[in-house]
Amino acid sequence: MQCDVLVIGGGSAGCVAAAELSRRGVGRVLVLEAGPSEKHPLVSMPFGLTWLMGGKRDWRFRSADMDGRTIAVPRGRMLGGSGSINSMVWFRGRASDFDGWQVTGWSWTDVEPAFEAVEAKLKPTLYEDGHPLVAGLEPMLPSNSAQPTPDVESAGPFSHNMIDGRRNSAATAFLRPSRAEVRTGTEVDRLLWNGDRAMGCVLTDGTEIRASKGVILSAGSLASPAILMRSGVGPADDLRRLGIDVRLDAPEVGANLHDHPGIGLHFEGAGTGYGLEPAQWLAWVKSALGYPFGKGRFTSPTVEGGAFFNARGDGAEPDVQSHFIPFHLDHRGQKYALKSGYFADVCLCRPKSRGVFRLTSKDPTAPPHIDLGLFRDESDLDTMVAGVTRLRSLLEKADFGDRRGTEVHPGPAVAGDDLRAFIKGNAGTAYHPVGTLRLGGPVTARCRVEGVQGLWVADASVMPQVTSANTNAPSMMIGWKAAEMIAEDAV
Ligand SMILES: Cc1cc2nc3c(=O)[nH]c(=O)nc-3n(C[C@H](O)[C@H](O)[C@H](O)COP(=O)(O)OP(=O)(O)OC[C@H]3O[C@@H](n4cnc5c(N)ncnc54)[C@H](O)[C@@H]3O)c2cc1C
Repeated sequence: MQCDVLVIGGGSAGCVAAAELSRRGVGRVLVLEAGPSEKHPLVSMPFGLTWLMGGKRDWRFRSADMDGRTIAVPRGRMLGGSGSINSMVWFRGRASDFDGWQVTGWSWTDVEPAFEAVEAKLKPTLYEDGHPLVAGLEPMLPSNSAQPTPDVESAGPFSHNMIDGRRNSAATAFLRPSRAEVRTGTEVDRLLWNGDRAMGCVLTDGTEIRASKGVILSAGSLASPAILMRSGVGPADDLRRLGIDVRLDAPEVGANLHDHPGIGLHFEGAGTGYGLEPAQWLAWVKSALGYPFGKGRFTSPTVEGGAFFNARGDGAEPDVQSHFIPFHLDHRGQKYALKSGYFADVCLCRPKSRGVFRLTSKDPTAPPHIDLGLFRDESDLDTMVAGVTRLRSLLEKADFGDRRGTEVHPGPAVAGDDLRAFIKGNAGTAYHPVGTLRLGGPVTARCRVEGVQGLWVADASVMPQVTSANTNAPSMMIGWKAAEMIAEDAV
């Protein structure tokens, strides 16, 4: 099989990159996606992600052992990628996030037009059918901002990439309307080389696919470095140990892995948030009937709102984000409990800790080693403890009226050193892994893999540092900007 430009991975960034490249006339663009199509009722249904996570449209990775436990690392496995199982929360991040990257061509003034171009198609909007608890968050942190932003302390409903109560992903808004060709169910094992030039790829079934102008890795922060390593580009000693022929010793491939660490508080009480308490059964039935008309709780993206604030409340800029889910979430190991409640977490905006991604085998089906590095820098843990402590007092100021619940997990008594130990033993992440192929490191400022020809990266792996909020919008921006650069450089 032959094309001009091959895009490996049809996720948030890959769909935008492929659509933009074909719009810019680079020739025949072919997207290879390991998973199936995004055309499934649970994918378009915002609330459907609660069933998709952990299913066959999720890669279901797990982290490396962290003090005797591993945590789930979900990643979307279908067209639209993680953007087809995410909560659709839409934040660009802060201008200083991009300026702080200090990479030529990626300052805030450079990336802002790309965000605008993406948003012109995706049209993120405030979720208007939200639970009353979410509007009740605003008095926690009165601000001049119309909606929460990582720039200032603020709280309330978030914006989402949804249209008429349905998911509007990079697949639906960019790839589908484009002229790019797509093959689903095609999992890439490694790249094909001609000297130091990438000229295509080999699928896991052995099929070879050739690209005359170049190859773009858009398989995400975990799979893009994995494909690169299986192709002989990575830390030479590691590759040799796994029996992979070294093409280029690139020690930084897979380094700098990081994510937003997060810890949640669970609240319960009759008549609080959404849940399966018998008093809400009729409301669930009404929601099912309203769903075809874009109404009701099945249109909820789950994370309906939240807040940004400074963990220590010392007037400095926000350093934590809280996601608020007005649903009863399980913490006892029983998915369906006849209760109602809500959930609020604390995630670090700019974690200092770093981990690493490594292969464990050259077999593409072998689970990789995903060391998230959570709290390797102790100051991250300090900020988390301060953030949870402040979140508790902020929630006291929320206008929840008679919908206020009781903190049942970990419970208000878990404070101070106990809270520190609880966070260390229970924290997860916001599902925002980035950084394994950073711009200015193994990848140039023009998104080209350093030291080889005809090979670019366009996905969340290129972020040198994670942005201060959710990473889908920045990933799509990266897809757009990468396409702009590649169209200029590849032809
Ligand atoms: C459960 C969940 C909730 C989230 N919620 C939010 C949110 O509300 N807001 C937000 O901003 N961000 C959210 N995120 C994060 C956000 O979705 C990601 O940062 C973003 O989608 C990353 O885009 P990407 O293009 O780098 O990777 P992805 O979108 O993950 O795309 C990678 C694609 O490559 C494919 N692929 C992988 N390996 C291969 C292979 N070998 N061959 C072929 N194809 C391959 C994958 O199947 C996938 O389609 C969430 C993520 C998850 C998992």
